[in-house]
Amino acid sequence: MLLLDGKATAAAIRAELKEEVAAGLAAAGRAPGLAVILVGEDPASQVYVRNKERGCEEAGIRSEAFRLPADTTQEALEVLIDELNGRADIDGILLQLPLPKGLNSQRCLERISPKKDVDGFHPENMGRLALGLPGFRPCTPAGVMTLLERYDLSPSGKKAVVVGRSNIVGKPLALMLGAPGKYANATVTVCHSGTPNLAEECRQADFLFVAAGRPCLVTSDMVKPGAVVVDVGIHRTDEGLVGDCKYDDISCIASAMTPVPGGVGPMTIAQLLINTVISWKGRTGIAG
Ligand code: NAD
Repeated sequence: MLLLDGKATAAAIRAELKEEVAAGLAAAGRAPGLAVILVGEDPASQVYVRNKERGCEEAGIRSEAFRLPADTTQEALEVLIDELNGRADIDGILLQLPLPKGLNSQRCLERISPKKDVDGFHPENMGRLALGLPGFRPCTPAGVMTLLERYDLSPSGKKAVVVGRSNIVGKPLALMLGAPGKYANATVTVCHSGTPNLAEECRQADFLFVAAGRPCLVTSDMVKPGAVVVDVGIHRTDEGLVGDCKYDDISCIASAMTPVPGGVGPMTIAQLLINTVISWKGRTGIAG
């Protein structure tokens, strides 16, 4: 079985971005800049933000973190977003979710300029994705697509099944897989909590993507032998980190599979860095 090593792929991407940034620095007149906003003290979010800052550093991106107290008001948060929207040296704005109770995440996400929306959550960018127009793509599903491309695994003409329909993973991933393109162009089925025959649907998949947020939901009897399996889920359990798929059993019959951890997680951050560099190139006019 081919291990789809997101950790190694993300490291290679960071090294490539670092070279790209160094090559464009003189013409651009400044390094790419990413603003990361973290409200409150959610431990998982703190880890994610630290990893994003570290990734930026390795790719030659200047990151600026805004750590705000949990009692920050909606107004104060929107003022900060407006300020960052207006700053010439900031190419991307990332609002780490979830926000503490009382804050309206959707309103904040819509406040971020679509041109700096490197997380791809603004309705304008989601609409652009649905319409097949250029725009920022959400990092987790775009990172999955980048991983397939790097391993030269093309779902074109194949049957893809996506388990999960969330706005940040399942829905955009299904749109990307079903779009035209060498590393897309699949016939896509989306399964969700209302799907009555999940096992049967999954067994049809040449490419199976699982983003259900349920530990070990997908077992080997639900996987077609030889399928490519991408596990987006991540859960902290007594046995350590596990995904939405039973890795040990499925890895015996799949042709390729992502591990958890070290699969989709690092690719999500790599894609954020890619999006930030794309934004920087566009905003400084050095895009080729
Ligand atoms: P979510 O809870 O928003 O959505 C889960 C989706 O799965 C829903 O659409 C639901 O209908 C579907 N679902 C739930 N139970 C199901 C079942 N039994 N059968 C079929 N469908 C079912 O979750 P999300 O934000 O999309 O995240 C999914 C998982 O991916 C989580 O474990 C999350 O931690 C992980 N995640 C990882 C990364 C990363 O970078 N690695 C990024 C985002 C999310």
